[in-house]
Amino acid sequence: MSTDPASQLPFYHGSVSRRDAERELMLADMEDGLFLLRQCQRSLGGYVLSLTYQGVFHHYPVERLPNGTYGIPGSMPHCGPAELCEFLSREADGMPCALRRPCLRAPEQPPRKGLFDTLRENLLRDYVKQTWSLEDAEDIEQAVISHAPQLEKLMATTAHEKMAWYHGKISRQDGERLLNTGSKTDGRFLVRDSEAGTFALSMLYGKTVYHYRINQDKSGKYSIPEGDRFDTVWQMVQYLKMKPAGLMTNLSEECANSTKAAKSPALPAGRKQHQNGYTPPPRATSFLRPSLPAPSAGSQLLPMDCSGFANAYHNPKDLKKFFINRDQLVMDEVELGSGNFGCVKKGVLKTMDNENGQIDVAIKVLKNGDESLVKDEMMREAEIMHQLSNAFIVRMLGLCQAESLMLVMEIASAGPLHKFLQSNKSSVTVEGIVRLMHQVSMGMRYLEEKKFVHRDLAARNVLLVNQTFAKISDFGLSKALGADDGYYKAKTTGKWPLKWYAPECISFRKFSSKSDAWSFGVTMWEAFSYGGKPYKKMNGTQVVDYINEGNRLGRPSQCPEPMYQLMMDCWTYKHEDRPDFQQAEGSMRTYYYSICNQPQPGDEAGAAQPTK
Ligand code: AMP
Repeated sequence: MSTDPASQLPFYHGSVSRRDAERELMLADMEDGLFLLRQCQRSLGGYVLSLTYQGVFHHYPVERLPNGTYGIPGSMPHCGPAELCEFLSREADGMPCALRRPCLRAPEQPPRKGLFDTLRENLLRDYVKQTWSLEDAEDIEQAVISHAPQLEKLMATTAHEKMAWYHGKISRQDGERLLNTGSKTDGRFLVRDSEAGTFALSMLYGKTVYHYRINQDKSGKYSIPEGDRFDTVWQMVQYLKMKPAGLMTNLSEECANSTKAAKSPALPAGRKQHQNGYTPPPRATSFLRPSLPAPSAGSQLLPMDCSGFANAYHNPKDLKKFFINRDQLVMDEVELGSGNFGCVKKGVLKTMDNENGQIDVAIKVLKNGDESLVKDEMMREAEIMHQLSNAFIVRMLGLCQAESLMLVMEIASAGPLHKFLQSNKSSVTVEGIVRLMHQVSMGMRYLEEKKFVHRDLAARNVLLVNQTFAKISDFGLSKALGADDGYYKAKTTGKWPLKWYAPECISFRKFSSKSDAWSFGVTMWEAFSYGGKPYKKMNGTQVVDYINEGNRLGRPSQCPEPMYQLMMDCWTYKHEDRPDFQQAEGSMRTYYYSICNQPQPGDEAGAAQPTK
């Protein structure tokens, strides 16, 4: 998983040192204008551009500015590292020459991960695991991928709280006492809250304790007076372990906070754990601006601000029995909706799985009457659902045979996507839609990997747990593909949702993940048109002709161009040339992460001035 916008660039080498970068450039002949990009160790999300000219190496820091743009200090900002390099290949803009030839990574080799990447990824997993009480590695992975941009913002501001060297609110004298107790190693250190409102670094050197004030500038960057600037305190500490950078010596041994060491692995301090494992975090501030005030009402809701996430990710494994006893179920009068089989009611399932002893569920109740045929269909749907377990797919909890046959599922109470969007136009942003559709693509990618075809993907079958959490539902038409089969061939046609179907479904009755990808394109169209009806004035047969003549749905007015491009790719006539879900999810993720990295309302524009 990478949220790094440079990760796809073939000349981005990741976390390599200046010396390694120079060696790479030397091996590539050092011609004028040869360049590579690497990760900056000091700034979160920053880079260094290394260039050769007339046998000399030049290294330029590329800063990620508070407004989400990237630039070499003192020159023009660009919206991403790729755009910056593209620009510098046309204009030297103060460098000795323009970028001419990229020094590429070895083929198949990903950019080298840095200490920060690993630390950050571990922290993300740890945070997600604890906040939402997730056990299953797969569930943790899904949650991390879907919420990475928001979680990283939080991590950046709170990661130091998890470090053993952070002692919180202790006095200068207490800091001295702690450092004077135990080993007398030069560079032994701790970080504490300073009276001035930021942090202080206390370090032992030659039996004396030195205290350094950690300042924070307007752009949120931290520095020791006259020293380098860092995005986070933990980055500063890691850096100062490698280089003294103005201190008496490098930081060495951590003077550990014993209250933290006792707890394993500590949650950020001062946060109370609620039932269901949900822990309300601090309001995360904008990335790179940790100390500025929290966003006011109306600003973006972060996943960790929302108790719905604990439930949405909840994977009640103990309940995954195929049959449920009737006395475990209490059915409400509230009807959530109705479909082919009958109605779906709200209910409660008594369980030993959580503290409350019960969970809210949705119960699909078979219509009484024409039992046998419909009953078989519902049993088939249950068999499919029973084999699936993914955060972005409605989980089946069991079947209950009593007064009627009942399919018990986790509840997605905010209802179908198209209806939700129709009634919440003003509060759901385009970014919110991208996030929801990315989750749908993750659920579909899982289905593709498990070799199932959905055959009825549409906005009506994407149910919302809340405004930021989507789950795919309705497996009434779904099929498991054989291990060696790429598609399912229907024996006959049926009551099919033609407007969502790919040409090969209609012409040859062939269904595959690629035909689901076509439906995904139509679902995206519905989402970006806020619940609009596709091909509004046409019937199914007219749509088939319309598609065969080469026409496609137009771009919804609010739909970003890259998202419309993905829809159009999903509507590639030949299934061989159409993206599968591995590709579609990849494109959705790249776009989603890129827009999350863009400025938030209220972010300041312009470059931060160096303090040096
Ligand atoms: P279906 O028969 O699967 O098409 O479901 C019919 C309607 O019931 C859907 O459009 C939803 O409004 C509602 N529904 C189905 N499953 C659920 C669920 N798991 N949680 C909440 N509502 C549901």
